[in-house]
Parts: sequence; structure tokens; C-alpha cells
Amino acid sequence: MPPINLNPGPAILPKSVLTKLSSSVINYNGSGLSLLEISHRSDAFIEIIDHVRLLTKKLLNLNDDYQVLCLQGGASLQFSQIPMNFLGTNDTACYCNNGIWGEKAIKAASLYGNVHLASSSKDKDHTYIPKELDIHDSAKYLHITTNNTVEGTQWHTTPPIRIPIIADMSSDILSMQRDFNQFALIYAGAQKNIGVAGATLVILNTKVLKQVPPSERLFPDLLHYTKQIEANSLLNTPPTFAIYACLLTLQWIEQQGGITAIESINEKKATMVYDALDNCNTFDCRVHKADRSKMNIVFYLKQESLMPSFLTFCKNNHIVGIKGHSTKGGCRISLYNALPIEDVEKLCNILHDFHKQQQ
Ligand SMILES: *Cc1c(COP(=O)(O)O)cnc(C)c1O
Repeated sequence: MPPINLNPGPAILPKSVLTKLSSSVINYNGSGLSLLEISHRSDAFIEIIDHVRLLTKKLLNLNDDYQVLCLQGGASLQFSQIPMNFLGTNDTACYCNNGIWGEKAIKAASLYGNVHLASSSKDKDHTYIPKELDIHDSAKYLHITTNNTVEGTQWHTTPPIRIPIIADMSSDILSMQRDFNQFALIYAGAQKNIGVAGATLVILNTKVLKQVPPSERLFPDLLHYTKQIEANSLLNTPPTFAIYACLLTLQWIEQQGGITAIESINEKKATMVYDALDNCNTFDCRVHKADRSKMNIVFYLKQESLMPSFLTFCKNNHIVGIKGHSTKGGCRISLYNALPIEDVEKLCNILHDFHKQQQ
């Protein structure tokens, strides 16, 4: 039996993407050369990166104000790059603290300007998303994490506020519809829902970017959004293979019928798993129902001592990657786009079987 891959990231990719990726390593597009041995300035690669930008804009329905960048350093470097570009030393930015990734973004931003906490869910161990936000009118932007990968909570709507919104969408980009044109900047490490580790997608509203006053701050050109836009993300050698993996995944999403079609499958997958967990009192889902993530489902065993036997049971049933994040304990089921619904059915049966075994 092939494994059921629930890894949180790097994560499952569509089989067809893996097949095409592997053949590109030997012979890219009949050229007789590997994709790994051609220049990032070659026509073949420029075509790939241009196509990634176009297809991202198409799938997310972005208007012409938006530019798509393929950068490096993961979502984590964006934690610093965003305030470097958008926040003057005396400026203030609002941040929501809904989990460990948001907390890291806050810590990074505090080195560059003032951080005002718009909300925090720390009081309840990040098991919910506070919707009441305390926003400073003069703040340069609000930063949110749309899906809290580690805690299993998700913003299902976008907060209705007037200042620009910047969002870390690393773990739920391309999984559901949002009005992406409401965001000043969207970023995501590719290794969860877009492709493989090494590439980071940054989607910028250039109108908002142009309003940022010139900064006195000195920082490398590589981290300058405007300079990267002017250079088509090619200021230095980009992660060519990872960018090609993004293109293949974006094309796969398009073939599935785009985000609308993907979202409806994702809804079904998440409902199946939450139902299975809710219906078996062996498991304990602590996240408030209204804020449950459809991508990363975090749960515990009511009887903590059962954890080792549950993990062994999962292993014997070829489930990979179900152990929770080291800071949270418990378990986590990641339901990224590429995980087939058939695997989710099997997974739910396995959860039921374990529950029955305990009766
Ligand atoms: C995985 C993840 C990150 C970190 O991504 P890197 O690419 O490893 O820097 C940041 N934010 C969220 C929401 C994530 O899921």
C-alpha cells in the first residue's frame, strides 16, 4: 500500500507533477539538456518564470496592479523583508498574533519599526482567531497569517479594515477563494501548496508599493521589492528547478478547474476528517469550530497515554507525517491540495478503526 502523505511541509505533490519534474532533470522539453544545466537567462527559463507570473495572476484573479515575484529565503525572510521595505524606523505596523509564525513575523518587524499588536489569541493557546482588531489609523499595514499551520486555525474571511493588509498565506494559498485584490502583499513559501522548497512567491500591489516614501535605510538590492520587480526576479540566479515545480503545480491546479474546483474538494476533505474526529470520543479537537483550518487539522488524544500506540497504529497503516509540531504535541493532519480525496477516505477509516479498538 502506498503511504498516505500528511507531511506539513515540504509536502505532497501531484503524481503528474513529480513525473514531469523527474523527466525534466534528464531531458527538459526534448532539448537534450537537463533543466538543471541551463541558464536562468535562457529563453527556456524566461518562458517558465513568465508563465509562473501569468498563471498565478490568472488563478488568483489578480488585477493589473499586481506583480508576482519568485524569491528565495522562504516565508521566513519575508518576515524581515516586509518591514525593511514598508516600515520606516518611526512608523508603526499592526500585527495579529495567532501562532508561532505570526509571532516570528512580529519579532522580525520589531527590529525595523514599531509593532502594535492588533489582536492575540495567546490567552487560549491560539485555539481561535479574534475578529475584533485594534487598528491604528496611521499604521502602515496590518499583518495576518491566513492559515496557522501549527495551531490549525484559519481566517475564513478577510478583516474589513482600511489600512493595507499583508498576509502570510504559506499554507493555504491556492486552496480556497479569497478576494486576493484586497491584499497589499501576499507571500508564501512554495513547499506547502505551490511546489518545492527553495522558491517563495511574493505577490505585490504596486500601487501600495509606490506610496511608500523613499527610505534612508540601507539594505541589499536583493531584498528590495522594486528592484526585484524591475529585474523580473532575476537579480541573481533564482532557484530554477523550484520555480519550474511551481509552474507544473499551477498548471495542475488549472487542469483541476482552478481554485473554485479545488476549494470544493478541500471542503469535502476537511469535513470528512473533522466529522471522523468529532464522532470518535477518542480524539480531542480543541480549535473553536468557526476558526478550524481546512488545511491543517490539529487534534489530541483524550487519553494522552494512547499517543504512542496511536502513532504506531498510523505507521502500520502507512500514514506518514501525522505527528504534531514539536511545540504543540498531539497530531496534525495536513490536507494540502495534492492529497487525493481517496486517501482522506482511507485515513478516516483508519481513525475509526483505532477508535473502535479502544472500546
Ligand atoms: C511553513 C511556514 C512558514 C515558514 O516557511 P519557510 O519557507 O520555511 O520560511 C511561515 N509561515 C507559515 C504560515 C508557514 O506555514
